[in-house]
Amino acid sequence: MSAKSVSGEAKRMKAAVFREGKLKLVRDYPVPVPAKGEALIKVLQAGICATDLEILKGYMKFEGVGGHEFVGQVVRTSEASLADRRVVGQINCVCGQCDMCSSGLSNHCRNRTVLGIAGRDGAFAEYLVLPQDNLHVLDEKLTDEQAVFVEPLAAALQIVKQVSIDKRWKIAVLGDGRLGLLACQVLARDNRSVLLVGKHRHKLLVADKKGIRVSLVDEVVGRNDYDLVVDCTGSPTGLKLAVKMVRPRGTIILKTTIAAPVECDLSPLVINEVRLIGSRCGTFSDAIEALSSGEIDISGLISRTFPLERIDEALKFAAEPDSIKVLLRMQA
Ligand SMILES: [Zn+2]
Ligand SMILES: [Zn+2]
Repeated sequence: MSAKSVSGEAKRMKAAVFREGKLKLVRDYPVPVPAKGEALIKVLQAGICATDLEILKGYMKFEGVGGHEFVGQVVRTSEASLADRRVVGQINCVCGQCDMCSSGLSNHCRNRTVLGIAGRDGAFAEYLVLPQDNLHVLDEKLTDEQAVFVEPLAAALQIVKQVSIDKRWKIAVLGDGRLGLLACQVLARDNRSVLLVGKHRHKLLVADKKGIRVSLVDEVVGRNDYDLVVDCTGSPTGLKLAVKMVRPRGTIILKTTIAAPVECDLSPLVINEVRLIGSRCGTFSDAIEALSSGEIDISGLISRTFPLERIDEALKFAAEPDSIKVLLRMQA
């Protein structure tokens, strides 16, 4: 029986579940029961991200309902201000008590679960639960499609929280995929010279239309003269290229999370005293603001939308080199 009603009575739902290296549609998955302080959310749309494709290859060894980028509607909550509201949600669910949480670094909570990535069922389902504190209510300014980009855009905005961008810098973003296309827009706000480096002409064209300089990777020469290189390739070779491009005392930001080990000679980093910074999740309110104001524009970034029933097809399409963001629509 599928969960069509929002009364909270439905016990079973459709969900796409990672199990033994596959993501399979299950039609009678139990509807999650919110714990104290959690809300039950009806998922409207969800985004497929490179991390989901990496989980298929064994990243994080996660089993359970996939998906962490979503927009939904709250259907059960103890918090009146959230009732029936359209929301997005921070994916890290934290304890609030460990040393990381008490020092203001709750994204690094030692006891965290992460929606659809670690220890917690995710958004490729008709319903999900999240702590109420994780939710951000949306107003009408944002479409559902824009809202699905809040999570990845927050991750892109984390770059400018970690490094303050100088407008005179020479900056390169490696990777013309979902994250690279957001990261170059984020950096271009403070630095007009940002260069997006990729392998796919039509993806580069999306950035080009937004006024960003682009280059095919084959045409890039590693001259060790970039102040900042951001690796969004999602490939084990991204770091290698970044090392060839970054200047002495420059900075590399790593956004790539992959199941495969990365092989790279690190001695140039020592010799050139390069700063290497890992970068993960960011602040949702910043992303909501940047999308609402039109500062970050998602046009051209959605390749296709599939119903949840066609998850197999959607995943295959998302893994194709030509596709950018693939969305899932949960409700038939
Ligand atoms: Zn993601
Ligand atoms: Zn904690």
